[in-house]
Amino acid sequence: MSTPIVYLNGEFLPADEAKVSVLDRGFVFGDGVYEVIPVYGRHPFRLDQHLDRLERSLAGIRLADPLGRERWREVLEELIRQNAGEGDLSVYLQVTRGVARRDHGFPDGVQPTVLAMCNPIAPLDPEVAEHGVAAITLDDIRWQYCNIKAITLLPNILLRQQALERGAVEAILVRDGLVTEGAASNVFVVREGVLYTPPTGPRLLPGITRDLVVELARDNDIDCREQDIPGEALREAEEIWLTSSTKEIVPVTRLDELPIGSGRPGPLWQRLYAIYQDYKRALREAAA
Ligand code: PMP
Repeated sequence: MSTPIVYLNGEFLPADEAKVSVLDRGFVFGDGVYEVIPVYGRHPFRLDQHLDRLERSLAGIRLADPLGRERWREVLEELIRQNAGEGDLSVYLQVTRGVARRDHGFPDGVQPTVLAMCNPIAPLDPEVAEHGVAAITLDDIRWQYCNIKAITLLPNILLRQQALERGAVEAILVRDGLVTEGAASNVFVVREGVLYTPPTGPRLLPGITRDLVVELARDNDIDCREQDIPGEALREAEEIWLTSSTKEIVPVTRLDELPIGSGRPGPLWQRLYAIYQDYKRALREAAA
């Protein structure tokens, strides 16, 4: 495979030639925000929603948008053109507060560092469609601005790693007795045929996939409620799902080593997953 091309501060160049200073505040402090945008058949999926969230994340850390909406579109389009191959992609982009002598206070007159790069994304593993995945529950140890998509992910990394070391793929987080989200995903629960997901707010990232699942459920007359979910309700759930841009909708069939519902991906997951794929297909056809 040829070397991927990345975008760094106005230039498109091979990944192994793209260099950032050790004084970059992203490197030294984790002072930056990011987005991950799926790209199906060369078309960025829900781009406006991702760029809206980027704007809110930048505002959340008091950093001016270095490119603006139109330039972001052009940069991403060119990056996708230069990296497009057979399969689907995701674009990772990040903005940090730039290069400055190490000091906590914001530096004056410094340009933000802007990076964007592509990664392949795999379609749903048939094994997961058949058997689902395992998750564990953990105390949500993160900060109080989880709605900002900050690159500072150490708590999420430590939580996810605990899940992996216990043979699970994700940690479902509980704060003050209520489910917030996964370490890198949002959470949906089915109880008595009703679909629930926690309301947005500072405790969780407003997932683009989450919002789309809520929208598609409502469009298809599925009762979907944005409502607090007590941690104990997870055990009684008929189905649990995780959503994210790169994994879409993943059924959880084991939680803390015990089966959820029938222990197999449930009927509502199957229905919504199919609706989601139809939605993607329709967009792709419209764009072709
Ligand atoms: N919550 C967290 C903490 C995440 O990191 C992510 C994305 N990886 C999500 C939720 C899902 O968001 P999206 O659907 O926008 O990818």
